[in-house]
Amino acid sequence: MISETKKIIFSALPYSHGDLHCGRILGSTLPADFLKRYFLLKNKKVVHYSGSDMFGELIYLKALDLQKNPNEIALSYHENFLKDFDFLNISFDKYLKTNSFEHIEFVNKFFDEQLCPYLDKVLNYSFFCNYCRRFLSMRGIFTKCFYCKETISDDVCEKCWNHFKITKDSIANCKNCERILEVKEVQNFRFPIVLTQQQRNKIIQSCPTKYLKKLFNKGILDGRDILRYSPYGIAWTNSEIKNTIIYVWIEALLSYLQLEASDSNNNLERFFFFGKDNFHFHAEILHKLYFLSRSPESIQKFNSKLIIRNFLNCNNKKLSSSKFNEKELFFIKDLKKIVPSDTIRFYLLEKDLLNRDSNYSFKELINFHNKIYCNKFINYFHRIQKCSPKSILFKKTKLMLDFQNKLDISFELSNLNKTYKLFIKIIDLGNSLLDKYIKNKNIRTLNSSIKLIINSLDYFEIIMPNFFSEIKDKIKVTDTQISLNLENISRFKKIEFFN
Ligand SMILES: [Zn+2]
Ligand SMILES: [Zn+2]
Repeated sequence: MISETKKIIFSALPYSHGDLHCGRILGSTLPADFLKRYFLLKNKKVVHYSGSDMFGELIYLKALDLQKNPNEIALSYHENFLKDFDFLNISFDKYLKTNSFEHIEFVNKFFDEQLCPYLDKVLNYSFFCNYCRRFLSMRGIFTKCFYCKETISDDVCEKCWNHFKITKDSIANCKNCERILEVKEVQNFRFPIVLTQQQRNKIIQSCPTKYLKKLFNKGILDGRDILRYSPYGIAWTNSEIKNTIIYVWIEALLSYLQLEASDSNNNLERFFFFGKDNFHFHAEILHKLYFLSRSPESIQKFNSKLIIRNFLNCNNKKLSSSKFNEKELFFIKDLKKIVPSDTIRFYLLEKDLLNRDSNYSFKELINFHNKIYCNKFINYFHRIQKCSPKSILFKKTKLMLDFQNKLDISFELSNLNKTYKLFIKIIDLGNSLLDKYIKNKNIRTLNSSIKLIINSLDYFEIIMPNFFSEIKDKIKVTDTQISLNLENISRFKKIEFFN
């Protein structure tokens, strides 16, 4: 007997160097949560995994700046993440920390047993600051992209997507002291595995842009160095090259393998949600790590979907906690004092036009809360209560609306926006039927309106889980009757409007 496919949804690991903001939520965890709720409604076996990425140069730099221990900083953000996820009704079946003993052990074991036989020792270059007396990874420097001259401080340029390769002639500055850096020749290990064209083709279907596709096809990450001369990260204990740590893009991605280690290897369908800037790493390194850990036969059956997210911008620049310092409120910890979590979830779903980047603004979020969330949805039930008899009992009749045929959620992974539009349409129709009833007192239009909304409660559960759990106790749907407990509805919390 073939067992049922288990779906594993992975959200890209949030990086513990700043609080969660709308861009990070929209970039991976929220759409993953929508998908999980959708599969649960369809009675599928599904789990949602993620974790906090606790290492990397930016945390180390922040620690230097604040004269604190980097672990302490990462841990405090990690704890804030958990609170914010809880507020947003985003739950995980497993959530790890990359600095946990278990993860460090898992990574070391993987390096010793799976990766080690394939490694070649090489000589390569690394930036060194003579003033700070240490080596720096790309996140600790700033330089110009070799191809488009954009200022970058990451392995991949966010403008032209090319990979920055350090040569002996590279020029860069230290982020900490801004001085020009020395380029030193250092030992490293090379990750030599190259994906086959067949494996590439499989991954490339999810490539977000033509240009990225071209770069990916060229294999720009092939043959990467796997160690960094940095003091903050996971050391490969058995490495013969000392005073190094494992490249964060390898050890963080090993989290996915660790998270699913206890799931049976057969019939797994994997969904990876991440931002388009991380496509190279997720597509290339992640698949190589998976392929390393499996037999050739199981690679044939390897089932993964990469779901790539565009940027949420602020003033047309990618929303980011490290680059922005303006008055615009976009951190969840600030927003949660002002609006309910359903508003944030719903607003971000509305922003989610997957084919392009979208712009965030706090003013727009508040407008959305007042006009869409309060007026269209919450007040619908208040209106019902005002205009109907003390209790309403409906006999099961054929629903008069053709629209009901469309109520099965046509949820598309690549187009959450369709789900949003259909949801809005249903609610608008429900409200307009209610208007008709108020005008003509024709009970049939009232019945249709209520039934329509009740039939769309699945949408509420996916998009607005708080509101759903509030409403579901007040509405009873049996085979023969739909009843609405108006006494309970009158006890709905009043939703505030904001100026
Ligand atoms: Zn560039
Ligand atoms: Zn320096």
